[in-house]
Amino acid sequence: MLQSKLPQVGVTIFTRMTQLANKYNAYNLSQGFPEFDVPSELMDLVEKYVRTGNNQYAPMQGVYELREQIARKAMELYGAKINPGEEVTITSGATEALYAAITAVVHQDDEVIVIEPAFDSYLPAIQLNGGRPICIEMIYPDYRIDWDKVADAVSDKTRLIILNTPHNPTGTILMPEDLMILRDIITRTEAYILSDEVYEHIIFDGQQHYSLLKDAELSNRSFVISSFGKTYHATGWKIGYCIAPPQLTTELRRIHQFLTFSSPTPIQMAFAEFMENKEIYRELPLFYQQKRDQFLSFLKNSRFKPLQCRGSYFLLLDYSSITDVPDTEFARQLTVEYRVASIPISVFYNRATDNRVLRFCFAKNDDTLRKSAEILCKI
Ligand code: PMP
Ligand code: GLN
Repeated sequence: MLQSKLPQVGVTIFTRMTQLANKYNAYNLSQGFPEFDVPSELMDLVEKYVRTGNNQYAPMQGVYELREQIARKAMELYGAKINPGEEVTITSGATEALYAAITAVVHQDDEVIVIEPAFDSYLPAIQLNGGRPICIEMIYPDYRIDWDKVADAVSDKTRLIILNTPHNPTGTILMPEDLMILRDIITRTEAYILSDEVYEHIIFDGQQHYSLLKDAELSNRSFVISSFGKTYHATGWKIGYCIAPPQLTTELRRIHQFLTFSSPTPIQMAFAEFMENKEIYRELPLFYQQKRDQFLSFLKNSRFKPLQCRGSYFLLLDYSSITDVPDTEFARQLTVEYRVASIPISVFYNRATDNRVLRFCFAKNDDTLRKSAEILCKI
């Protein structure tokens, strides 16, 4: 009999909820993707590069001009001196970069610290590599990282610590104090860090994004991963990247070259040219902040209680004053009976911790947000 390598894993919650939303014609605030289109100038650039013969394999490491742009941006935004030749790799979405980074460093029985709730691809990647996830829950309802628990969990078996800021699904962000404590913890170990920063430009209320690239000591042992999907409303193009010191990049590329080898050439070339336009990511925080505030104002008279959202395009709503039904079941009911799809938070925990909270994606047109909120207000 075929023995599954991931027996505990089914089809991802994002796929399941989107399918359910489509089946019941519900407003789909579940899977995180924008309802707005890619800027038309960027579409024109992709077309230009497709039509001018750039349709064969890109270099395995990624189109050099794109890596240069990424290095330039890292210097401008985070003061990080990055060598595009040896420290930047273009991948097929952040998902591939995450898998390649984890595979590059995690050996059989190595321990990996995972802060929960956690994006769903981390755990399977660790397990497929024979690693042991050590899951540490954030403190509810603020979703702060319990650094004492992290410090206690770190040992000489710890190979990797995975962080995510701004955080999916909770919308929290790491602050300088967090990085200070992390620095203290990490100096006592040989562990590497994986920092998932795909929402780096979706951060609110004048807060800054504290990329690990800002801190030479931390970034010296980190994989910093981001994605063009979030920043340019292009989640379907699946282009991401990883910045890491040369030694880590060499190992990451050893894996990347056999996972996908390279990612679509014309799209990489289009991004390389389009990245000259900095307005897009400079305007993104305010754009999404207005979406968040719009959605919150539509929900003002609802019995759902919003939790704080400082970044990402997800808002958590606590529904404990409405019902005690488990979150997976309530998310199903909301989709099937009320036609609003969301994501239950318990799926992001190894132990299915359920605080009666659902995640709603607000990367949607105001009309969608208003109509979904009207339904939620009646519940
Ligand atoms: N990390 C986080 C925290 C995410 O929310 C996502 C999903 N959008 C990814 C990684 C994957 O990004 P991509 O779509 O570029 O593969
Ligand atoms: N990152 C998206 C989310 O959190 C979905 C990614 C996916 O569908 N794999 O909803």
